[in-house]
Amino acid sequence: MNYNNKKTLKDIEVNGKKVLVRVDFNVPVKEGVITDDNRIQAAMPTIKHLIENDAKIILFSHLSRIKTEEDKATKSLAVVAKKLEEVLGKTVKFVPQTRGAELEAAINELKNGEVLLFENTRFEDVKNGEVVKAESKNDPELGKYWASLGDVFVNDAFGTAHRAHASNVGISENIAESALGFLVEKEVENLGKGIDAPERPFVAILGGAKVSDKIGVIDHLLTKVDKILVGGGMTFTFMKALGHEIGNSLLEEDKVELAKEYLAKANGKIILPVDAACASTFADVEPTFCGLDVPEGLMGLDIGPKTIELFQKELAGAKTVVWNGPMGVSEFENFKAGTVAVCESAAKLDNAFTLIGGGDSAAAAIKLGFKDDFSWISTGGGASLQYMEGKALPGIEAIQSK
Ligand code: ADP
Ligand code: MG
Repeated sequence: MNYNNKKTLKDIEVNGKKVLVRVDFNVPVKEGVITDDNRIQAAMPTIKHLIENDAKIILFSHLSRIKTEEDKATKSLAVVAKKLEEVLGKTVKFVPQTRGAELEAAINELKNGEVLLFENTRFEDVKNGEVVKAESKNDPELGKYWASLGDVFVNDAFGTAHRAHASNVGISENIAESALGFLVEKEVENLGKGIDAPERPFVAILGGAKVSDKIGVIDHLLTKVDKILVGGGMTFTFMKALGHEIGNSLLEEDKVELAKEYLAKANGKIILPVDAACASTFADVEPTFCGLDVPEGLMGLDIGPKTIELFQKELAGAKTVVWNGPMGVSEFENFKAGTVAVCESAAKLDNAFTLIGGGDSAAAAIKLGFKDDFSWISTGGGASLQYMEGKALPGIEAIQSK
């Protein structure tokens, strides 16, 4: 995939224009408090550029999912508007609507350099108690309406770039000019560097729990990488395919045949664990170690020490590392060693390009203190995964070319 030809913020004139900006403010909120403002920080370069260049800035984003009218009470972007004011050091006009007279008037009153944020785009998914998915299913009327509110559209939400929604694709198709924001531009640049133009040796690391979502990535990566290290819950579908015992470990039975197929065509490129750290229940308990087979009554919750050694050896000397999915249940003190070891190995590499594309892997690396040791940590798990599968990202595809 090549998105280098897409217009970016640098290619468009924004002075005095009403600029509609799709940002990703889908931040974690606990009891009304934002627990991590990374995504707000990540949008700063685009927002600041627009302020400095005297645009009238209209921001919008989804927050979580909206399935009922009741969801709307706890999923308002009002809390984000407050945080944004703090981060920006500037007034943000919040409009608690996704359409209508109040929103239109507020937009028309904006002066150059002023910032407005309107309500959660997914409020449009439920109308009078009925699930209509106008935003999530890209209702053409909605995209057209939102596009009518501005002169230019900027997509800076990488987290939803793999979805064709009204707030990205719908607007793009109905507006005179569109461009990528600085965050999305960087995401695309880094993913391209990691996956399409890697320096070799190129080692991919796959783990995590969503086997069915991820197994397709292997197919595409096999055409690109020198090695794929498989860890995490993914491991056991492959071990089963090889005829090993897996106890109560995570398994997606209907993917065993596919795993066999990949192993056959991998030509030794897929490296599987040789041991595991196990427990009898899914709990943060003292691990029991086992080899290639996980005995009955146990489940594998992390890669074992021999596998750590093996993976460290495979990673040494790599020039490109792309990582998606923790090596174990890294949320548990007793089962984080594999994930820590992978972070350490990546951190140690000289002149290598190291990329994390996965929500939980990114969170784990940051929490374990390796935030500054990677070349790029993607802000979109699903979107980067789709890129790794070699599939187009509709939210980016829809943006005009230079
Ligand atoms: P990412 O968000 O990085 O793409 P996933 O969502 O696929 O990763 O998976 C992350 C989850 O996988 C973590 O919550 C972790 O606890 C879990 N996990 C990792 N290894 C195992 C395992 N062996 N058994 C069960 N769950 C696991
Ligand atoms: Mg995840």
